[in-house]
Amino acid sequence: MAQQRMLQFVTVDKEMPEKRPPNLRAHDFHEIYRDYAAEKAAQQAGRCSQCGVPYCQTHCPLHNNIPDWLRLTAEGRLQEAYELSQATNTFPEICGRICPQDRLCEGNCVIEKAGHGTVTIGAVEKYLTDTAWEQGWVKPIKPHAERTESVGIIGAGPGGLAAADVLRRQGVQVTVYDRYDRAGGLMTYGIPGFKLEKPVVKQRIDQLEAGGVQVVLNCRVGEDLTFDAIRGQHDAVLIATGVYKARDIAAPGVGAKGVVAALDYLTASNRNGFGDEVPAFDSGELNASGKRVVVIGGGDTAMDCVRTAVRQGATSVKCLYRRDRANMPGSQREVQNAEEEGVEFVWLTAPRGFAGGEAVEGVMVQRMRLGLPDATGRQVPEVIEGADYIEPADLVITALGFEPEDLPTLWGVPELGVTRWGTIKADFRTHATSLPGVYAAGDIVRGASLVVWAIRDGRDAAEAILSYIAHTGAVAAE
Ligand SMILES: Cc1cc2nc3c(=O)[nH]c(=O)nc-3n(C[C@H](O)[C@H](O)[C@H](O)COP(=O)(O)OP(=O)(O)OC[C@H]3O[C@@H](n4cnc5c(N)ncnc54)[C@H](O)[C@@H]3O)c2cc1C
Ligand code: SF4
Repeated sequence: MAQQRMLQFVTVDKEMPEKRPPNLRAHDFHEIYRDYAAEKAAQQAGRCSQCGVPYCQTHCPLHNNIPDWLRLTAEGRLQEAYELSQATNTFPEICGRICPQDRLCEGNCVIEKAGHGTVTIGAVEKYLTDTAWEQGWVKPIKPHAERTESVGIIGAGPGGLAAADVLRRQGVQVTVYDRYDRAGGLMTYGIPGFKLEKPVVKQRIDQLEAGGVQVVLNCRVGEDLTFDAIRGQHDAVLIATGVYKARDIAAPGVGAKGVVAALDYLTASNRNGFGDEVPAFDSGELNASGKRVVVIGGGDTAMDCVRTAVRQGATSVKCLYRRDRANMPGSQREVQNAEEEGVEFVWLTAPRGFAGGEAVEGVMVQRMRLGLPDATGRQVPEVIEGADYIEPADLVITALGFEPEDLPTLWGVPELGVTRWGTIKADFRTHATSLPGVYAAGDIVRGASLVVWAIRDGRDAAEAILSYIAHTGAVAAE
């Protein structure tokens, strides 16, 4: 096995220059280094200048002690480096793979700022943790002592699971409820497998379960179990349900066959990857194979859709976005990846409606220009009248973002305070909601965000819950 890995490294080495040329971007580097050799990790880690102003650390939402674990990696002290890296991050191998490092740690590396190309922090973090798994350094949680208090967590995404990990390490009895048949939230059913391999997520869930976290699947809170029942069963509750309501397009023909929502499409693709029976995939309804695909939207979800469609064998893939390249919300790195894979971006275009009858045959496209800035300073797209055209399409995927579900109504708890965007109102530091003993974390508080922020919130909320149950336990004992 070791020999096989070495052979892979030798092959990679032949293609890899000693130093990353400036035009080779961090993500490409990351991908080429999928089987990252110890020598290369040490070499990259050794490029860290130990600058003393660790902007990488301050720009990591978890404030990972990056300079120190890079130094340990450079010295070949991999287990110590891993221990340090996992002390602040519940899922370092996942963040190493899917954090937008160019906007976080690596984008703020002083070597990058000086124009010499960032230290590939994410790739080293991934390498360290993958090595830890291979070497058996990652162990199931073994609390020093069991506690009687229990916490119910609604949602088995990164926010809920990160909280479960912190609470269980302190011996708390933890039950995580999720409406899906697999845990992991968007790490399992949203993010495509070519960005985040599913066994990597599964091994973490298995580790949590082996450490005593109870995971109750196929349990939709509000239908299969009431929110009040969960509150009644536990000393504290964490809501980490994410945001799933797709933003709609109000345009003629939107209900036609072949116009589908991004998450339905990505979930079907992920389920197919698991080997599940997915009738809508097999029938072609949620499968891009052999189709002219148009994706509407400019965020990272749209990028995942176009790149998935390419992999499924679409005959053409176009992405319509109403602003220009410089103003799109998605990562520029992902746009470049998609372009290299053959995706065509049609900037400054928006759908007016959908052509065809029962089944979609095309998108009625209106051309846009950028007008005056609005109150936020962002230029507002304006329609150019008389410039419409039809973009032929057999499958149209709408990826216009997500909104929270109306939890107070769905769960019959009007006292649960929400913001005007429908996200749960929670204290910035403690994550406490308007209901005593009820906390909230992740996308359901922030709106659609990132895995690393959900982990941060989950960890912080768990610390606050520990204080809460210690306090209420003490009061009860008095
Ligand atoms: C397509 C896509 C790609 C993305 N790519 C990236 C990326 O590359 N990098 C990155 O950092 N972030 C990415 N994100 C964002 C990231 O996935 C989320 O920010 C993160 O998963 C939020 O974590 P969470 O725990 O708050 O919620 P989620 O991961 O959404 O998990 C919430 C869980 O709660 C469950 N749930 C909801 N309601 C109920 C209920 N009533 N009863 C029981 N269970 C319930 C859901 O089934 C789900 O399992 C992506 C998002 C999408 C949609
Ligand atoms: S968690 Fe994300 S931002 Fe923090 S060091 Fe790792 S890859 Fe960078």
